[in-house]
Amino acid sequence: MSQAAVRPVEGKEEMGQAMFCYQCEQTAKGEGCTRKGVCGKPPEVAALQDLLLYAVKGLSLVAVEARKAGVSDKEVNGFTCEAVFSTLTNVNFDPERFVPLVHRCVQLRERLREKVRVAGGKTKFSDGSADFKPEAALQGLIEQGKKVGIHSDSSLDPDIRSLRDTLIYGIKGLGAYAEHARILGQEDEAVYAFLHEGLAATLRKDLSLDEWVGLVLKCGGVNLRAMELLDAANTGAYGHPVPTQVPLGAKKGKAILVSGHDLKDLEEILKQSAGKGIFVYTHGEMLPCHGYPGLKKHPHFYGHYGTAWQNQSKEFAAFPGAIVMTTNCIQKPLDSYKDNIFTTSTVGWPGVAHISNLNFEPVIRKALAMPGFSGDKDAGSVMVGFARNAVLGVADKVIEAVKGKAIRHFFLVAGCDGAKPGRNYYTEFVEKVPKDCVVLTLACGKFRFFDKNLGDIGGIPRLLDVGQCNDAYSAIQIAVALSKAFGVGVNELPLSMVLSWYEQKAVAILLTLLHLGIKGIRLGPSLPAFITPNVLNVLVQNFDIKPITTPDADLKAILGS
Ligand code: SF4
Repeated sequence: MSQAAVRPVEGKEEMGQAMFCYQCEQTAKGEGCTRKGVCGKPPEVAALQDLLLYAVKGLSLVAVEARKAGVSDKEVNGFTCEAVFSTLTNVNFDPERFVPLVHRCVQLRERLREKVRVAGGKTKFSDGSADFKPEAALQGLIEQGKKVGIHSDSSLDPDIRSLRDTLIYGIKGLGAYAEHARILGQEDEAVYAFLHEGLAATLRKDLSLDEWVGLVLKCGGVNLRAMELLDAANTGAYGHPVPTQVPLGAKKGKAILVSGHDLKDLEEILKQSAGKGIFVYTHGEMLPCHGYPGLKKHPHFYGHYGTAWQNQSKEFAAFPGAIVMTTNCIQKPLDSYKDNIFTTSTVGWPGVAHISNLNFEPVIRKALAMPGFSGDKDAGSVMVGFARNAVLGVADKVIEAVKGKAIRHFFLVAGCDGAKPGRNYYTEFVEKVPKDCVVLTLACGKFRFFDKNLGDIGGIPRLLDVGQCNDAYSAIQIAVALSKAFGVGVNELPLSMVLSWYEQKAVAILLTLLHLGIKGIRLGPSLPAFITPNVLNVLVQNFDIKPITTPDADLKAILGS
């Protein structure tokens, strides 16, 4: 390295491994990806993500001092969300995109430092991240990134590392939700303040285990606020979701498929493709968008195509139109559709066309040039739109059904989908839920059972799709409203949570549930690799969190028969 640019805490390389990442559920051998990510992330991108995170920690040190001096910088706040979101699983695999991100981070840090100096605040820091000078070019940045990964401080106590990394992954999820809300104009200074406080804290060596646990739970509390903002952003822009039947087939004509999570991108695609003979379809986590009045009003917003993110290579290859990947969940595109797929916002893949400034004209041109669907296809339909407003609109009926024992129990079967065979648990679990019980679901884990006809209980559907993972706030509000109606705490409700996790948004949601004091969560398909046995013990003792076992055994344990 040409300058005293990066000062790793212990000055050690990453234990001779090409990379180390253990932030998601599919991590290699349940321990960590060390040669290449199971997700497809190469060591170079892992190093660049580590470097960006290191740089953002340095920026956060300055931002914490800035707030003490009465300075908050809007651009720094927004950039922090965008930067941590870029390091989420399956978001940005394009090394070139990390070069301007790292450079901008350092420019913002220095600009903020000057503001702090003028305001009379502290501008000198002992941690190297606050003075880090990035190399100009890609290869130099990669070399710098190799020195600041997870094991750069190899002497760290394993339980402290576990809690530190839990905090980092929770912050990544929190930053992603805050970014979704920010795009639609909903922000809260308190969320940004914690992002910087939490990131700066991950550099500290003087915190006790209890203090780390406190920070982790605080992250969950702040994430609740971020999800509240996102709920306000989505419902404010597009109205409260209403129960809506969504076709799973196809309409003859040109086609655009929108995957990911971003409602604003979808709205723009709908507006810009109107009147052009194109039908717009959702994929994966975009399915619940059909329930929003402000989106479903577009007559060419037709239906849903395919299932969850991990099936995209097969499903995208068969789609006869243009594909847009908004936000997270991209996998390596096959050559057969690499020219038809586009990324937006934080998403990136080397060689894949990227849409900037919400200008989807290249997508529309591609869709018009492709064959589209040659005829109408009927493949049935599913119902969406059972978010908090719709469910609580029939709260009286639900409460009556519970009091009259028509509904025995609620199950929230929610979370991410993924490729592991163990995820069949969730399909089997829902199939085996007794007929006097209702299943609430959200996020892409629902694709394990979303098209099953579970019938209804006195007109209340037994399968209620609350929305995306981004709509976890809605499910929490339903639980809180029911607990108020019954005059008991959420833990006393006839409600059990059976969750599946995959990436860092799910970590943030789990921390929110723990912050709310929710007990007895069943988590699968496997426990996070970054949780040590001692930290797991803390979770078990305080929150009675448990791994899933078998559907039969878990149902018996919950229902007692
Ligand atoms: Fe491995 Fe997951 Fe990290 Fe990808 S994001 S490198 S699969 S742990």
